Amino acid sequence: DDVLRLEGITKTYGAGTPAATEVLHGIDLQLARGEFVALIGPSGSGKSTLLNLIGLLDRPTGGVLRINGRDTATLDDNALTRLRGRSIGFIFQYHYLIPAFTALENVMMPELLARGSPDRAMREHALALLGQVGLAPWRDHMASNLSGGQQQRVAIARALALEPPLVLADEPTGNLDTKSADSVFDLMRHVSADRGTTFLFVTHNMALARRCDWLVELVDGRIV
Ligand code: ADP
Ligand code: ADP
Repeated sequence: DDVLRLEGITKTYGAGTPAATEVLHGIDLQLARGEFVALIGPSGSGKSTLLNLIGLLDRPTGGVLRINGRDTATLDDNALTRLRGRSIGFIFQYHYLIPAFTALENVMMPELLARGSPDRAMREHALALLGQVGLAPWRDHMASNLSGGQQQRVAIARALALEPPLVLADEPTGNLDTKSADSVFDLMRHVSADRGTTFLFVTHNMALARRCDWLVELVDGRIV
């Protein structure tokens, strides 16, 4: 029933070299469906490393990482890439929208890349997602003409395009003023509750972290 389960996860950079350093020391973590969890910790504590492992962008050195019950260690790189596409949505501090594409086109992009050619169903799905983030009226505006908060809303809609059970949000409010940050946070919480999507939300904003279901704090590669 857990969307994500980590058991004894370790990560060593430069394994097998004199510079080998273990930066994650046995991480245990379970995230259930629909949970909204904050990940906090000082710079260098291992948040990016952990997020890269959970996002299937890098492999752990030791331990077990399961996504929807599936042990990822048994998968080759192609299978891992497919699992990532199906299972994980990403939201970053910078939105990484395509500036000269419209809001709607940006939201259609993951489905377009996954399935090949655009069709009416894809368009309507993207439009529904834009509606959920409150941007249906802006669907034909270029991404570059939207405000920072609006761009991050488009990025949230795009992260949901393939209906992933898990969204990794890496300081998604870090570039926004307090008011936009609050509203982007509220939107993510609403989306999570509404769709049953699990969110792991990396932030330095303690006020927002305290409003999550619970908080994971990393210090020196350990959950404290
Ligand atoms: P943040 O603190 O915002 O997470 P960092 O500066 O720690 O950012 O890391 C930015 C990127 O650089 C990450 O992808 C991380 O994996 C990489 N990185 C951090 N430290 C090192 C290092 N000592 N050697 C190589 N890459 C590193
Ligand atoms: P955070 O995101 O919390 O700032 P990171 O995961 O970026 O932490 O870094 C954790 C530790 O791992 C730091 O000591 C960093 O220098 C080191 N590190 C991160 N990426 C690399 C890398 N690619 N190669 C070597 N060391 C790295």
